[in-house]
Parts: sequence; C-alpha cells; structure tokens
Amino acid sequence: MNETKCNIKPDQLGYFGKFGGNYLPDVLKNEFKRIEEAFNEAINDKKFTDELDYLLKHYAGRPSPVSFAKNLSDKYGAQIYFKREDLNHTGAHKINHSLGEALLAKRMGKTKLIAETGAGQHGVATATAAALMGLDCDIYMGAVDIIKEKPNVDRMRILGANIISVESGTKTLKEAVDEAFVAYSKEYETAMYAIGSAVGPHPFPMIIEYFQSVIGREARAQFIEMADVLPDHVVACVGGGSNAIGMFSGFLDDENVKLYGVEPLGKGVKLGENAASITYGKEGILHAFKCLLLQDENGNVANAYSVASGLDYPGVGPKHCYLHEIGRVHYDVITDREAIDAFYELSRQEGIIPALESSHAVAYALKLAKEHPTEKILVNLSGRGDKDIEFVLNNIK
Ligand SMILES: *Cc1c(COP(=O)(O)O)cnc(C)c1O
Repeated sequence: MNETKCNIKPDQLGYFGKFGGNYLPDVLKNEFKRIEEAFNEAINDKKFTDELDYLLKHYAGRPSPVSFAKNLSDKYGAQIYFKREDLNHTGAHKINHSLGEALLAKRMGKTKLIAETGAGQHGVATATAAALMGLDCDIYMGAVDIIKEKPNVDRMRILGANIISVESGTKTLKEAVDEAFVAYSKEYETAMYAIGSAVGPHPFPMIIEYFQSVIGREARAQFIEMADVLPDHVVACVGGGSNAIGMFSGFLDDENVKLYGVEPLGKGVKLGENAASITYGKEGILHAFKCLLLQDENGNVANAYSVASGLDYPGVGPKHCYLHEIGRVHYDVITDREAIDAFYELSRQEGIIPALESSHAVAYALKLAKEHPTEKILVNLSGRGDKDIEFVLNNIK
C-alpha cells in the first residue's frame, strides 16, 4: 500500500478523496478559514505544543497505559492488548481534543466554547476544558438526552457550563448540532465551535485527528516496547470516528497491520435500527460536510440508533469514508447484544468496565481472536463504563 496515499491530509478545500469539504455559508466559511490558519500556526509554535503536551501529561494523565489482557487471551486464543483511554481524566479519549480546542480558542482570543453533545461525554470534556481555561461554555443538548443522561448533565452544571435544551425534531444529537451551529453563526466573533468528533466542515476533521493522534503515537511505541513487534490487528469503535482515527493514524503506514473500524449495528439492518454509516450509508451532506450518510431512498437523513449513545450519529468522519473506499481499513458491525455481552465479559475477565461504545470494539476483537489464535490484537478502549452502569442494570437482562 502506498504510504502517502493512505495517511493523507485533506486537500486545499478539505477533501479526503471525494469526502469532506466545507458547505457552510460564506460568513462562517471565512471564520473557518481563520480557524484553519490559527491551527496551522499553533501546531508549528513550540509554546502551543508544549502547553498542550503539559496538559495532556499533568492534567489528563497521559500517557495512558497499554494493558495485556491475560485472562481474555488465555480464554480466546490471540494475545489481546488494550490501549487504556478509559483511564484519562473525565473517562474517555474526548479530553484529548477538548483540551486542544480550548487552547486554540484561547489563542484566537475567544471567550466562549459552543458545543453539542449527545450522551454528554463531549459536553463534560468541553465543560472541563472551559473551566480549566476560564472560558464560558454553552452546551446544546437534545431534551430527550437531557433526561436520559442526567449524571452527565449534572456534571456539566457543576463544572459551570450553560446547558441549552434543544426541542426540535427527535430532540437528540443531530438537532443539537443543528442548533449549536445556528447559535455559533451569531456569536462566532467571540466564541469557538468545539466539535465533538472527527466530523463537520473542514478544518475540523483534520484538527480533531491531530489532537487524537496522540493515541496512536503512544500506542505504537508502547506496543513495540511490550511485544517487540507491531500488532497484527488494531481495532477501534467508530461513531464520528475520533478515537478510531487517532488510533489508526499511528499505524496507517504499517502495511502489515490490519485495521478495523467497528460500527454499531444496534437492533438490526433496517434503516433506523442502527448507526452503521459506512456499512449502510450513501454519499450525502450533513452538517456541512460530505460523507457516507444514513438516508432513506428520498435522501432524507435517517435517525441513527445504537445502545451506545456516543455512536448514534447518522454520518461519519470523511477520512474514514476515504480509508474505506481505498480499502486500507476494514469496517464491520457489532450489534447491541454483542456489545453488551462484551461489556460483561471484559468486566468479569479483566476487571475493567468499558463504555458501551468501546464494548463494540471489544466484541469485535474477541471474534478476531477466535479466528487468529496465534496473533496479536490491540484494541482501543475509548472510555470507561461508569456512565452506562445504571442503564445496563435497569434495561438489560
Ligand atoms: C464519544 C465516544 C465514542 C464515539 O466517538 P468517536 O468520535 O467515534 O470516537 C466512543 N467511545 C467513547 C467512550 C465515547 O465517549
């Protein structure tokens, strides 16, 4: 596989192949151009990168360890390792990009972060970074999610964020993004949009990948140190695609390392029952970028569903669409049921309670382990399951 062809940066207009771009109205397009310029300056400024590195180490707790899962390996065959993003401050990989976005906002002289959240994980990470850096914070969240995700709503309020309840449409993530964009378009002179995944109009997919690539960089070096070789297989779950692209970026140029992105099959293959955008989506535009998108035959965006709220977005990051198209990453699906079984399996075999999102990657890794009993599998454990405990106990037998 041609190295430069795999691990590409977006072109001038923000496309990875035919995916990505920026379909915002002109006023916002100009502002996003300024964000792109500020970002490119920042990552070439040692003061900025030193400050980010300092926060990742002394505040978020990086580097997160890689753990060898001896009990699962004995039981399933292959040697299974986990990159422990669940051990980060706030419990998931999202703090990596939230700290980066908040630092960038400060550098641009902004005084507020505006973000959307579904399950509340990105909202909590954004509210955390805003508190740390003395920024105001407006979080847009669907009314349905506000009720469902009360513990995270409480955390955001304690952290000083302002929660705006979104009452339109299905009152969930997609509408929260819609309304956050509207608010941002009125406040962009003083506020920064802090997107929650490797999605959205250019330059955000590129920015989020940069901030999350610390996962793959660390994991590659840690794995070699522990096992003396590279992993044969690397697995990550894909919602919008930020934890997966961060992990994959460390291995895209290693042509012998097989990469797997795991999408949620939810309750089944029918439209509305899953959130497997790459597997079942068609080319379309959502939230001002082009990607593989779940839609009906008339092109209306479908409702996405997964037991893991962090995965239920009908679109997906443009670089994943590209990596799918060129065949560098294999995208596959795991059902709610399989993810829940893996949630219990990891808890009981290894004493690690994973997020339901991450449980999709775990479930897939256990399948791979049975097929490749002598090989080495590295799984990105994107987050911890504390947030899911009540839901699992009350709703799942
Ligand atoms: C938000 C979230 C995800 C999904 O987001 P990506 O951008 O696809 O990584 C996965 N795992 C956890 C724990 C999350 O909080």
